[in-house]
Amino acid sequence: MRQSRMLIPTLREAPADAETQSHRLLLRGGYIRQLASGVYTYLPLGWRVLQKAAAIVREEMNLTDAQELLMPAMQPAELWRQSGRYEVYGPELVRLEDRHGREFALGPTHEEVITSLMKDEINSYRQLPMTLYQIQTKFRDERRPRFGLLRGREFLMKDAYSFDTDWNGLDTSYWSMHAAYTRIFTRCGLDFRSVQADAGAIGGEGETHEFMALAEIGEDTIAVCPVGDYAANLEKAEYQTSYQPEHLGTRISRRANLPAPHLLATPGVHSIDELVTFTEQEAGNFIKTLIYLMDGNPVAVLVRGDHEVNEIKLKNHTGAETVQLADAATVLQVTGAEVGFAGPVGLSIPLLVDQEVGLMDTGITGANQSDYHLSGVRPGIDFALDTVLDLRNVTLGDPCPHCGSEMNLVRGIEVGHVFKLGTKYSEALGAVYSDASGQEQNLIMGCYGIGVSRILSAVAEQHHDQNGILWPASLAPYQVHIVPLSIKDETQMGLADELYEKLTSQGIEVLLDDRDERPGVKFKDSDLIGIPIRIVIGKLAKDRQVEWKERHKAEAEVLELEAALSRIT
Ligand code: ATP
Ligand code: MG
Ligand code: MG
Ligand code: MG
Repeated sequence: MRQSRMLIPTLREAPADAETQSHRLLLRGGYIRQLASGVYTYLPLGWRVLQKAAAIVREEMNLTDAQELLMPAMQPAELWRQSGRYEVYGPELVRLEDRHGREFALGPTHEEVITSLMKDEINSYRQLPMTLYQIQTKFRDERRPRFGLLRGREFLMKDAYSFDTDWNGLDTSYWSMHAAYTRIFTRCGLDFRSVQADAGAIGGEGETHEFMALAEIGEDTIAVCPVGDYAANLEKAEYQTSYQPEHLGTRISRRANLPAPHLLATPGVHSIDELVTFTEQEAGNFIKTLIYLMDGNPVAVLVRGDHEVNEIKLKNHTGAETVQLADAATVLQVTGAEVGFAGPVGLSIPLLVDQEVGLMDTGITGANQSDYHLSGVRPGIDFALDTVLDLRNVTLGDPCPHCGSEMNLVRGIEVGHVFKLGTKYSEALGAVYSDASGQEQNLIMGCYGIGVSRILSAVAEQHHDQNGILWPASLAPYQVHIVPLSIKDETQMGLADELYEKLTSQGIEVLLDDRDERPGVKFKDSDLIGIPIRIVIGKLAKDRQVEWKERHKAEAEVLELEAALSRIT
């Protein structure tokens, strides 16, 4: 394609609300534009990358003999009532009514639709096993859409569903999908782990794994054994069950006998006696957890003055430190500690006073504030107050259940999820088949999702530098970027055209920057877009020489045109 004809609206600056590198660079590189919160247009470049990701997914699905179909996004509420999920799914389910007042939902996932289809179309064990999949836009009215394509309200998902006659069959289908997922994410160039996950959310007691792309901005925390293969989402890792904010309720505040969340969120609580107390161990856990949540960055805390206690100890990994608590704007930097305290952001901190640690109110304004906001380098995280209290229970660095090694905690982006559903949906919707003896049996199901659009964010998050994205060849919108420095120079343009024709005639995807722009502008855009190979055509064109530069390398080299061609083809 000729760049002068294309819609590639690169930006020097990203909008201020773009918080992650992937989000910023996808916007700046002219890949996506936001229409509404969590709702994006894929511009021509973004659409090309999305299609590449979808093609990889499709290829690998087809290799497992899964069959592609396309189901409606618009689903009768009745189906969701039958499965019991209409109420359970809550406000994430986008609901609407047609002109006759009939209720519908926009599919966040398709267990109900596929199960009702199979109920009608499958009769006999002879038709099984079978796996069906689609690549389709999903709708979820997420509480916090964010980070660009990472958490959208409208996004592209591949969802597959397997149907077996028995549990062994499901096991085979499941691991065949697991293997396909491993190939898919490898081909996408992702650094990922398959982790054991918690079955609770989808329902059922089946086996389930999540595929986590490792990235600091990831919203999941996973425990990874440094020795063996064991890795688990913290939701799953048993010793961490009290950790996940979603799973924490009022339990602790009840245990602590607090009228929380108001007590600690109300400014003006000045007596340590009124505060929740921590043991030293709990305080250590709390701070360690904060550090992990803050991606290892120092935790920034505004310490509000306490009128009665003016000396506190701050417990952390490396020991306790005594500091003076002066006034509301005190900025404390604990020497040699992994926790730095700086304001003004507002958070509670555990205070160790005479071997007892109190959770101290800090910088929270408004009596009804129930969220704490931690700020550090990366954007803040909101916690329900109860969660902060619950963090007392957390013990990090517990042993791997297999080999006893101390587990590392890392952050991950859930790019895929495989799940043994069993008969949850077939039972609810009456999807049966008849077995060899003519008996009716429930279909045994698995479901398998991939966030196709989320892959773009995960890849951009893992592959970028300060100048732009570094797409792996498998996803890059084009393979080669030809950049003639001056389009008015006939020799340069002649050589550029020749190269362009030769490459495109061999089926190679080429973007030719034929814009009348300064070289500086062209280079900046080229880096932002992030095509793997750049061929610059400048003064050396008269000698049929070009400059070859790979996006992930710092240095360029001069090559004869023919040599450049043969490197690519
Ligand atoms: P999350 O924990 O991130 O909310 P989920 O567990 O709710 O994801 P699943 O129901 O397992 O998601 O859906 C299958 C896949 O769809 C996920 O593994 C993820 O890659 C992708 N996905 C889920 N929600 C979103 C979203 N809001 N935006 C983009 N991709 C998403
Ligand atoms: Mg979700
Ligand atoms: Mg999840
Ligand atoms: Mg999931």
